[in-house]
Parts: sequence; structure tokens; C-alpha cells
Amino acid sequence: MNHSLIVGLGLAGLTYAEQLRRKGLSFHIIDKGFGGSSKIAAGIYNPTVLKRFSLAWNGSLFHEYALPFYEELQECLQSKFIFPASIHKIFSKDSEHNKWISASDQKLLSPFLDPEIHSITNPQVKGNHGYGKVNFTGRIATQTLINEYKISLNTNQIFEESFNYDKLLISNYQVEYKGIKAKHVVFCEGYKMVNNPFFNFLPLVGSKGEILIIRSKKLQSKSIVKASIFLAPMGEDLYWAGATFEGNDKTLQKTIKGREWIEERIKKIITSDYEVIEHITEIRPTVMDRRPLIGSHYDYNNVHLLNGFGTRGVLGAPLLSKWLLDHIEGDCELPEAVNLSRF
Ligand SMILES: Cc1cc2nc3c(=O)[nH]c(=O)nc-3n(C[C@H](O)[C@H](O)[C@H](O)COP(=O)(O)OP(=O)(O)OC[C@H]3O[C@@H](n4cnc5c(N)ncnc54)[C@H](O)[C@@H]3O)c2cc1C
Repeated sequence: MNHSLIVGLGLAGLTYAEQLRRKGLSFHIIDKGFGGSSKIAAGIYNPTVLKRFSLAWNGSLFHEYALPFYEELQECLQSKFIFPASIHKIFSKDSEHNKWISASDQKLLSPFLDPEIHSITNPQVKGNHGYGKVNFTGRIATQTLINEYKISLNTNQIFEESFNYDKLLISNYQVEYKGIKAKHVVFCEGYKMVNNPFFNFLPLVGSKGEILIIRSKKLQSKSIVKASIFLAPMGEDLYWAGATFEGNDKTLQKTIKGREWIEERIKKIITSDYEVIEHITEIRPTVMDRRPLIGSHYDYNNVHLLNGFGTRGVLGAPLLSKWLLDHIEGDCELPEAVNLSRF
């Protein structure tokens, strides 16, 4: 019998599977094979909040665990998906300089925020107030990671289909789905959790994000530029540009309004011409209180959830998946802030 049946192969399902693999525990994965926010994310890992010059919730802790986790995985998969790149936070006014300098002096932020105010040297990037540099940041090419991870699995370890909740049989000592037996089932469906009858009472509100992939030959930026949006280099003159935040619309419809909103901001950041290659949308799995949703079902102690990664799945996923496995295996208490029992 497998240790776990995992539903969903985004960052949550992948990092949980990888935690199992590292412990020699077996698993099966059911994934639809399309959609999910991990596949369109910029994949930026950044422990700071650049709107407020502050540290993100658990920013240092997640960063310290995530980077070695991905490095080990990169080596194991013999692939390249980690792209370190500093973030250049473009200042919109000189009065931001002092705030930046004093933030960079704080103990937890000082490893990440370079105190110097830099002048913009790339002639294609606009701005008269300079930029601040964030160190130890970069991009995880999430789409590559997921594809490579899939390839590394045995063909009978992953099934491409939409999970049918009616077919899940649960008893005290095992779960069974279409003949696959496991001790536990772990749901990692991202925003699609809203269709999961075991957990859809939880306040996963979701926020739609639209992004553009653009090509600009002239821009030649190796850093991630952050102004009112992110412009992140993807190689071959391609840049990830975005994203919008929309709380009411939960469709995957691309909107003219979304595209125009992003393009207006691109034009405020760069002078160079560009071409829009792709326009994509997805729904972030955001929670009402902006904390992850992890833990076990009230009635079934072998039915679990790993979700609610919100806007920052890349840094959080490795440690959050460890917390869940430690909770399942070792009966470790989950931190109150992430435990779904808070609802
Ligand atoms: C525009 C945008 C930009 C983002 N940028 C960043 C960023 O730069 N950095 C960062 O850290 N985070 C970013 N995020 C957030 C990040 O993408 C999420 O936090 C994270 O990817 C969520 O991972 P997940 O595995 O929980 O969900 P998902 O990635 O949505 O994965 C869920 C998986 O489950 C599958 N699934 C769902 N239901 C079923 C079912 N019934 N049967 C079978 N399979 C099912 C889906 O097909 C999918 O493969 C961004 C998100 C968006 C939308």
C-alpha cells in the first residue's frame, strides 16, 4: 500500500511528493494535466514585501529552507530551473530612499536589502529616482520544474485525470481510489479546492491574476525589475510581466482591461519596443486571512489538505509540505497560523 495518494501536481503536490520521496515513502499522483497557478507564476522567490519595505510572513524561515530544497531537487532531476537574479526595486520618488535605507538596517531585512541607492544604468529602463537592490532572490521556472518532475516519475505513479470525489473510499486504516490504495489522501488542488466536498467549507477566496509574456530584444535586463508590476527575464529576450489582482472575477477569461492595465505599466517602466507573445490568466489560491490552509479533515484522520499558498507559493511550499508530513507521520502540531482548524 502507498503512503499517500496526492491530488494535484502544482507546487503543493510536487513538494509534498518530494518530501515523501526523500523519506523513502511511496505515492501516487492524480492530476488533470492542465491549469493551475504554479504553471503561470513568475516563480519569483523574494522574502521581502517591496510595497512596504518589510519582511514577508516567515520570509527568512521559508527562504532558508526553500533554496537548499530546490537545489537538491535540481541536482536530482539534472535539470535547470533555479535562476538567481537580484530584484531592482525602482523608486518612484526620492522620499523612498530614506525608508529603504532604514529598512535595510533592520536585522531580518539586512541580508536581503542592499542599503545603497543605485542609479539606473540600463538606458531602456525609465526612472529618475534610482533603485534599491534585493539580494538572494530569483526565479524558479515552475513550469520546467513540474514538467521535469513528471518525467522523473514512473508511468504508473501519475494518472492524468480529473479526480472523481465520489470514487474515494475511506476507511479507518486506508483510502482507496479506483483500485489505488494508500494510507492517506492529500488534496493539493490549488483554487480548485472550491469543488472539493471535503474541504470546500474553508474560506479559499482566490484572486485572479492576468499576465503577459513579452519579447523585447533591446531591454537586455538580467535583473527582475519591480515597479508597480514585475518584469522578470525568462531568457531568449522574453519577460514575464504582471500581474493583475482581481477578487471578484473567478473565470479564466482573458480581459482587455487586464491586458491594458499591464501594458500601461510596462510602458511606464521601459522605453524599448516589445511584442506581446502570450496573455494568460489563473486564480491564486488565496485565503481570507492570507495564511496557508494545512491539516487534516475533522471526521477523517487520513484525509488531508495542503493549500492556500496565495501569492507566495514558491518560497513557502517546501517547508509547508514538510510541516504537513511531520504532522501526518510524527503527530507534530501544525503552527496555529496555518492549521485549517482555525476555521
Ligand atoms: C499570475 C500569478 C503569478 C504568481 N507569481 C508568483 C511568484 O512569482 N512567486 C510565488 O511564490 N508565487 C506566485 N504565484 C502564486 C503561486 O502560483 C501559488 O501560490 C502556487 O503555485 C499554488 O500552488 P498549488 O500547488 O497550491 O496550486 P496549483 O498550482 O493551482 O496546482 C493545483 C494542481 O491541481 C490540479 N487539480 C485541481 N483540481 C483537480 C482535480 N479535481 N483533479 C485532478 N487535478 C486537479 C490542477 O490541475 C493543478 O495542476 C503566482 C500566481 C499567479 C496566478
